[in-house]
Amino acid sequence: MIHEPRPPDRIVIVGAGIMGLFTAYHLARAGAGPVTVVDRGWLSNGASGRNGGGVRQQWETRALVRLARESVDSYRRFGRDFGYNIWFRQGGYLFLAESEAEQQHLAQVAATLRSEGLEAKLLQSEEVSQYAPGLETGGLRGGTYLKSDGTLYPFPALWALREAILRLGVDLRLGTEVTGIDVENGRVTGLATPAGRLPATVVVNAAGGWSSALAALAGLTVPNRATRHEILATEPLKPFLDPMVTRLRDGLYFSQTMRGEIVGGLSVAHPPGTRQGMPSSPAFLRAMARALVGILPSLRHLGVLRAWSGFYDDTPDGLPVIGEDPRLRGFVHASGFGGHGFMLAPAASRRVAQAVLREKSDLDPSQFSIARFLTPGAGQLVEGLQLG
Ligand SMILES: Cc1cc2nc3c(=O)[nH]c(=O)nc-3n(C[C@H](O)[C@H](O)[C@H](O)COP(=O)(O)OP(=O)(O)OC[C@H]3O[C@@H](n4cnc5c(N)ncnc54)[C@H](O)[C@@H]3O)c2cc1C
Repeated sequence: MIHEPRPPDRIVIVGAGIMGLFTAYHLARAGAGPVTVVDRGWLSNGASGRNGGGVRQQWETRALVRLARESVDSYRRFGRDFGYNIWFRQGGYLFLAESEAEQQHLAQVAATLRSEGLEAKLLQSEEVSQYAPGLETGGLRGGTYLKSDGTLYPFPALWALREAILRLGVDLRLGTEVTGIDVENGRVTGLATPAGRLPATVVVNAAGGWSSALAALAGLTVPNRATRHEILATEPLKPFLDPMVTRLRDGLYFSQTMRGEIVGGLSVAHPPGTRQGMPSSPAFLRAMARALVGILPSLRHLGVLRAWSGFYDDTPDGLPVIGEDPRLRGFVHASGFGGHGFMLAPAASRRVAQAVLREKSDLDPSQFSIARFLTPGAGQLVEGLQLG
């Protein structure tokens, strides 16, 4: 019997954030096609244009460590690969522990990292200020430091990927909202937009904080939940701080950009969901100012220049959702990246592209498939270092 070759998939990626753009890039490079990326806003509309630019490999879950390490390699090559400077600076990440339990936690993380070939240092309290001069170390028990972690500027990464995918023939439609997903006989057949129907055999959900709303358009329930996080930038200071500093107790994080500003955030509770929009709150400004000045008293006279917020796309176990949904042929998840999607994007999006192409992946599906939330008792693992 002669089999007709399968026609190529018509792939539509929803979301032109870092995940959607990088996925389009991998797919276009692999010759998949045709590939369309749609976004109702502009390139940096979602969290990809609102984040702190932190790139770390310090995770509990081995698979995240590996994705992050691969992403660090990719960001190191980014200038050569894409011709854009993303100002990726490997000034390290300094995690701070205030109790014996937190120090033990970090000791385990450091051991995992070392077994993965990353030179993580477990620090005693008196060693911490070597890495962040002026830090108030009185209440500290210790910490960890990994030099190859760092920070980057998110915007040039988005601009570079936009240019790269356009060169590769990807159809990028900004200002186009997906309002419906057509399903026939258990598979995706197209998308509805105000500009008309888009035929599709594969839909990639890279909608960030709106991923559960997008999945709902296809009749799928997912446990992803949008949570609003706030962040600010101060007046510039002469460079004095190399690493991103992160405190375990409350998730306070801050770094100094190449322009000298201190950029950082702290979790303040907001009702879940995207309905409240993306404003800034006086409660955050107060909490963040108190936390920053408490840990770095020399910042007490510094003014805040800007504050903004964006949505994390959180999952119950702190791990992303990657791969085709077993309930709907052609619906591929690229979601659930919490506060860490930028740092994981180069490597995670490669696995999303593999799922679209139905190629074998090295990711353990029990850790990353949506199936872990559909079967009672499955997916026991929880990532305990979701901070910031
Ligand atoms: C304050 C803050 C600080 C952060 N700090 C860091 C950090 O230091 N390091 C790090 O790695 N990560 C950080 N993150 C997280 C990171 O920014 C995200 O995980 C990542 O950008 C997610 O990328 P994405 O492409 O999946 O989603 P997004 O960038 O959110 O893009 C989703 C896109 O989907 C579009 N969309 C949604 N629904 C529809 C629809 N129906 N039709 C059409 N388009 C649609 C939206 O317009 C949006 O542009 C931070 C996030 C925030 C909010």
